[in-house]
Amino acid sequence: MRNHTIPEYRLQIRTDKCRWCAEGLIRLEIQSYDHANGWPTDGFKKKQWLYIECPGCEYQWSLWKLGVAKPKERTVPEWRDAR
Ligand SMILES: [Zn+2]
Repeated sequence: MRNHTIPEYRLQIRTDKCRWCAEGLIRLEIQSYDHANGWPTDGFKKKQWLYIECPGCEYQWSLWKLGVAKPKERTVPEWRDAR
């Protein structure tokens, strides 16, 4: 069984606007980097931390904060993902 791709994770976004400046986020490019607590992502060897940078206020919204859960992971304390 393969992992989700980044476009598939995009479909799981629950919050489509920046909480700070109300900029729309859903159509923006999802960026990623290697991160041990990130999402297993098809096409990457390591887990990826997925985020969208708001063009209005430059806040980096992790997909976690936009409502995308990490599949098949033990629950980790939320502070670990605080950014
Ligand atoms: Zn913003």
